[in-house]
Formats: sequence, C-alpha cells, structure tokens
Amino acid sequence: MYIQANLHGAEIVGNAIIYRLMEWLATLDGEQLQGEIWLVPHCNPLSANQRNHYFTSGRFNSYDGRDWNRIFWDYTKVCSDLEDFAQTQLTLDADTIVHNFRDRLKTAFKQELDALESPPSQDTSRHYRYRLQSLCLDADYLLDLHSSSNQGTDYLFCFASRQASAPYFLLEWGILMDECSGESFDEAFMKPWLALEKTLAKLGRNLQFHLESWTLEYGGGMQMQPESIALGFSGIKNYLAAQGVVKSDSSIAQRTIKLIAKDQLQRYYAPRGGTILKRVFLKTQVKTGQLLYELLSFPKGQPPSILPIYAEATGFVSDLSTNQAVNQGEYVLALMKE
Ligand SMILES: [Zn+2]
Repeated sequence: MYIQANLHGAEIVGNAIIYRLMEWLATLDGEQLQGEIWLVPHCNPLSANQRNHYFTSGRFNSYDGRDWNRIFWDYTKVCSDLEDFAQTQLTLDADTIVHNFRDRLKTAFKQELDALESPPSQDTSRHYRYRLQSLCLDADYLLDLHSSSNQGTDYLFCFASRQASAPYFLLEWGILMDECSGESFDEAFMKPWLALEKTLAKLGRNLQFHLESWTLEYGGGMQMQPESIALGFSGIKNYLAAQGVVKSDSSIAQRTIKLIAKDQLQRYYAPRGGTILKRVFLKTQVKTGQLLYELLSFPKGQPPSILPIYAEATGFVSDLSTNQAVNQGEYVLALMKE
C-alpha cells in the first residue's frame, strides 16, 4: 500500500491524514499488520515551497509551466507488444501474470531512470516523476491525497472497474473516470494494468487483478480542515482493513457513494470581470434557477451593475474560488450535478 500527500503545493490536508495514520499504525502489533505500507507526506517540496506573497498555488511547475500532476510516466506508451505478452500469459494464474508484467514494467522503467544519468540527462519534470514513481512500482494499492486549490469538499476519483471499493472510503461523492490519459499519478499507475486486463479479456481471459489506485480529494487549499482530516483518516483506515492490509476488530463499513461522470462536474466562470457578491456557501444543495452568485461590475462611463448568475442544473456546490475578484473567464465555483 503506497500513500502520498501534497503533490500539489497548496493541498496540505493529506499530510495530517498521514500523520494520524502513523500514530494509529504505531499502536498495532505485528499480528494486526498484514501488509507493507509506505507513507510519503510532503511528496513534492518544490511545489509546496512556491509562494506568491502569502499564497501557495503549487499546481504548476514554475520552471516549465506544467501541472505537477500531468507529467507521469505511463508504461502503455512504450509497451508496443502488449498483446503478444498477453498471449503468453493466458493459462497462468493472476498472481503469476502480475509478477511477470511487473517485471517487464520495471525493466522499461529502469531504462528511463538510467537516462537521467546519461550525458543529455532530462528536464526537471522527468527527474521528479521518475524519483517519485520509483517509490510506488511495487505497490498493489496506491492512494494519492489531494485537496482543492480553492475551497473544496471531500470526494474521490474512481476507475470504472474499481467501483466496488469506492464505498470503503466513507465519502459521499465521487467522479467516475471512463477515460485514462495516463498522465496523472493515479492513472500512470493504473493504466498499464487496465490495458492488460482489457487485452486479456479480448483474448478470452476475464480477470481483475488485486490492484487499485485512487485520487482522494480532502477539503480546500492552504487549510488544515479538521473535518476533512477526520474523514480521510477514518476512510483510509477502513479501506486498509477492507483490503486486508490491517486486521480489524471492528466490522468494515461502507457508505453509499454518489458517483457522477466527469462531465457532471460543472464549473462556472465569470462572464465578465468584477467582484463576487452574495455567493452560495460550499456544500449547498441548489435547484435549477436558484441564485448562485452576483457579480458587481463598474463598466466604464456607466453606473455600477449587478449581474445575477443562476444555477443551470440541480446539484451540490462542491468548490468555490478563494479569490472573490475575477477577471472575465475566471473560475468562480463548481457544481456536482445530480
Ligand atoms: Zn491536486
């Protein structure tokens, strides 16, 4: 089990969740601990140390402008003989296939890692990604703890084939991913295994490996929110028990989770520049036509104006911009549509 936090600089809640997990794990005896757990708080010091006055954004690498979570190495992009490999594995048991495929993946990864030491070497993003990914290649389960950069709520990203495990995190909302670019940390880990499952299925062998990866979103940026920390701790503890990594005395809980498609997360952007008045609170349940916020503008040569913005659909206010001053086209809030 590999658990990291704070890949994006502002998203600090996960560090406290990892600390709570460390305190709790230290109370377990060897018998209760059934697996190996790697905990990596502050996994991106470069992004965590970025500042603009009092503020951390830490979403983009200021050296090359790239999102820190869209840079990762995806084995499927270099594995050109997946089907040939799958053909040779059809009669083997799942554990052996995982072992064989992981060997191949690690061999390919090592070549990339070695390239860092070659005369031309590689850019910052690649140095960072290989170093971080080298920590998780052996894992069966991967949890990447994020937050909103703004004011956000608690939810997760779920791969369609892994829905059965989503209720163990005890969260109310989740976003179902049907596409997988392989560039984010969770996708880079999972995509090769999903591709192998798909290829095996095409060849007539249906199986699902005991491998999962999750991006978990806890609260907002630059804030250690106690409710998000508590929810993250209890959910991950429960997930560890559900996967048999720790032996639990209490029963394993499940919470009904509302999983929505990615396009059901609707972002609202300011139609023109101004300042935000009377905005709905975070976690408000809104109906179609309900006022979301008012935008105060001072148009040149005209009296001040207030533009009301109404909800286009029924939903749940899952995220708010921290900055209430907006230029035209800047982000104001997000709704998870029912
Ligand atoms: Zn993030």
